Amino acid sequence: MTANFPVLKVQNLSRVYPSGDGQVQALVPFSHTFAPGLTAVVGPSGSGKSTLLNLLAGFETPTTGQVEVGGTNLTTLGEAARADFRLAHYGFVFQNHNLVGILSALENVEFPLALAGHSPKERRARARELLALVGLEGRASHLPGQLSGGEAQRVAIARALAGNPSVLLADEPTGNLDTRTGERVLALLQEAASAGRTVVLITHDRDVAAQANHHLNVRDGVVSLGEQGSLVR
Ligand code: ADP
Ligand code: MG
Repeated sequence: MTANFPVLKVQNLSRVYPSGDGQVQALVPFSHTFAPGLTAVVGPSGSGKSTLLNLLAGFETPTTGQVEVGGTNLTTLGEAARADFRLAHYGFVFQNHNLVGILSALENVEFPLALAGHSPKERRARARELLALVGLEGRASHLPGQLSGGEAQRVAIARALAGNPSVLLADEPTGNLDTRTGERVLALLQEAASAGRTVVLITHDRDVAAQANHHLNVRDGVVSLGEQGSLVR
């Protein structure tokens, strides 16, 4: 069963960075409606993939254009409103899991729920449920340093799903993992996507990209729609 999550849409979105005396056009203006499901973003290093993701998240301010989720224009929200909006609608998974080192796996998953104002009892129950979902109910009290890379990344996914986000953004989440562990992480992202979420996954790995529902190619800041076949050059 898929839920009706709000749609992620960008219009005329671009980003220029100052660079010495000149400028870098990290992202050339583009418009796109992200379909629900898993979208793989592929492109060489330095092509603008992370810039795109940071713009989608509202971590970066666009030079032109806007990012909309369910009709709300992220770009025009103030800093505090944007943080609240992110908490309510987004989940993030990074290449390095970014878990809080002094909190247990369970506490890490609880963290965004605490920020969102859930009661301790409620958030503990939800965090346990999420750890079970990623197959780590037996690691609840482990600190991040006591987990393998793949386990830590699965905790990060559980944390990212805590707020039941409509948009899940992942920047090279399998980049540091061996193939089998990477597949497990990918399967969790696919599961999140098949529930009707918009999952945007940056990856260097063609095998990973091949399993996505939709494809975007980025080259020198230019985003184009890609078919699976066109990924293989
Ligand atoms: P990718 O994630 O595809 O490797 P990025 O989006 O990180 O690429 O970078 C795209 C381009 O923008 C690169 O040329 C990079 O050097 C430049 N860039 C990225 N972030 C900044 C920044 N904060 N300041 C200046 N230039 C940046
Ligand atoms: Mg990057």
